[in-house]
Amino acid sequence: MSVLRIRGRALPTGDWLDLYADGDRWTTDPVRGAELVAEGWLLPGLVDAHTHPGVERPGQPLDDELLRTDLHRHVERGVTMVRAPGLAGDPPDWFGRDPDVPRAVHAGLWIAQHGQFIDGWGRRADLADLPRAAAAQAASSGWAKLIADWEPGDPPLPEAVLRDVVARVHAVGGRVAVHSQQAAGGAAAVAAGVDSVEHGMCLDPELLPEMAARGTALTPTLALITESLARVRQRPDGPRRRWYLAGATGHAALAAAAVEAGVVVLAGTDSRPHGRIADEVRALVGAGIRPHDALGAASWAARAYLGLPGLVPGAPADAVVYDADPRVDLAQLDRPRAVVLRGALVSAAQSTRAKLA
Ligand SMILES: [Zn+2]
Repeated sequence: MSVLRIRGRALPTGDWLDLYADGDRWTTDPVRGAELVAEGWLLPGLVDAHTHPGVERPGQPLDDELLRTDLHRHVERGVTMVRAPGLAGDPPDWFGRDPDVPRAVHAGLWIAQHGQFIDGWGRRADLADLPRAAAAQAASSGWAKLIADWEPGDPPLPEAVLRDVVARVHAVGGRVAVHSQQAAGGAAAVAAGVDSVEHGMCLDPELLPEMAARGTALTPTLALITESLARVRQRPDGPRRRWYLAGATGHAALAAAAVEAGVVVLAGTDSRPHGRIADEVRALVGAGIRPHDALGAASWAARAYLGLPGLVPGAPADAVVYDADPRVDLAQLDRPRAVVLRGALVSAAQSTRAKLA
């Protein structure tokens, strides 16, 4: 098998790069006989930092076959890495490893207090046992995912419990992601020093500077939250409707303010159908975030946050290649010229080889 080569302007800098895949590592040292598979605008692959692949409907068990199919949808759209902050079961060994699926980090089963979260999913524990459960999960997969708040009126996780969760998870070298869609849960999560706030709906914007200072990331899942608005508006008035409308209406402004404040913002899609990361980038741009930053949230900035370098010599050999600068033309995101994963071409526009031949 010949060595794969790509070249073009690499983001985030826009510098010209000519890259060769030496196994799963990029190198700029020319390799004789390398096959140029794509030329254009190069990114180190896209990242969906909040996705729960492998289930048809909430509450169902993890389906390994569907998991692979869902991950293929991600790869086709240029996603070379996912973070699954909660899965419907322990993933199979090939998750994050097989040649045809993205790299992956995950938090195993969601962890929630009794009486909250989706029936059939996750693990429930008494408040006193939550920190131990979170640390055990993080010790095995690197992340733990806690449900800090659920329905309006439900008690959120107390800040003291979240502090204990963070201390125990960090002690085993893990990180803590927290689901929050209410002001009190979000405030407790930020004060406790969690590593990432997921959704963050209704979060007090005054907390953004603290998040920036502590390196707490925000995954706004903006497209997911705003696309429900029309449906929720049709519902009869009540606390749940008022809560959702208030939070979702202000969510785009919150996401933009987070970027402005210097918070690490990550692009995530959450729900089916899979492979919609471009929609989240467009939603972030629609919120007023510069295309450069919105794309970074779905690529180089997210990779850096998850511990992977971008397109530099020695980096893992992932890339997505576009015909034109995707910051100028976001529609490029819907039709990558080529997707390279672990040094191999996993997806390519039909005309790629003909064009370069
Ligand atoms: Zn989620």
